Amino acid sequence: MFGWLRRKFGKTDRFARLDATQFPRFAPGTVWLVGAGPGAPGLISLLGYYGLGEADTIVYDALVGPDLLAMANPRAEMIYAGKRGGKPSPKQADITLTLIEHARAGKKVLRLKGGDPMMFGRGGEEALALARESIGFRIVPGITAGVGGLAYAGIPVTHRDTNHAVIFLTGHDEKGGVPQAVDWPAVSTAAPVIVMYMAIKHLGSIAEKLVAAGRSPEDRLAVVSNATLPSQSVVETTLADASTLAARTDIPTPAIVVVGPVSRYRQTLDWYTGGENALG
Ligand code: SAH
Repeated sequence: MFGWLRRKFGKTDRFARLDATQFPRFAPGTVWLVGAGPGAPGLISLLGYYGLGEADTIVYDALVGPDLLAMANPRAEMIYAGKRGGKPSPKQADITLTLIEHARAGKKVLRLKGGDPMMFGRGGEEALALARESIGFRIVPGITAGVGGLAYAGIPVTHRDTNHAVIFLTGHDEKGGVPQAVDWPAVSTAAPVIVMYMAIKHLGSIAEKLVAAGRSPEDRLAVVSNATLPSQSVVETTLADASTLAARTDIPTPAIVVVGPVSRYRQTLDWYTGGENALG
């Protein structure tokens, strides 16, 4: 049955070797914007993994873990471009400039970002800058925390019995405050499930805005911290009690927040950390 696979990837009884496969060429002077996935190193795509082995320069974010970096080409130059809320960090313009300079120097540049590069990750901005400079780029999607991270907590982001739509929301804008451009009344009623990134700092005021705009205060709210990592932890509450939760200082970050009924499936589906059958 898998004969065609063997023919394509080389005749071997062993697991298909990546270097024998036909990935697109990583051309010198180009940039790959790669999603690293939410944390666990196995959650990067095969194409992203292949790129890590090929790259000359790797510019990586704070959310990318050491286990994944250890899979990179050992001769690659590793450049940290971490940006974590509240701490001094390189300016976005400097990061973009680094990508451009290394590409211009003929390097294969891999920009490694947590989750998916196009989901609240400024992948679009960086791609626009590269396009402006006529530098070739490829986007390698990743598993976003708001989907894959929730799955590790036993929370399906959609479920036929609960929701036919999802909203992805960021908990702060470029100025660091609660996003002003969000239409809260629309957001509060448009979908049964709201997944919030970067929302811990303003969780109390976001929850208040949602309730003021018509969302039920009884709605479930779950916070998944360090999703997909061994340190993963989950706390559950209601929208009404979100500010009490937010006042606690011990919610580890990064954390993804999900509002809506889907977190109830966790009682049964918590395969990663829950109970004696947990796979960890
Ligand atoms: N591009 C990323 C999101 C970057 S914004 C993605 O697609 O996942 C950073 C936010 O992502 C964090 O504030 C947090 O809300 C979320 N996040 C990223 N990794 C996470 C993880 N392992 N666990 C929980 N939340 C995570």
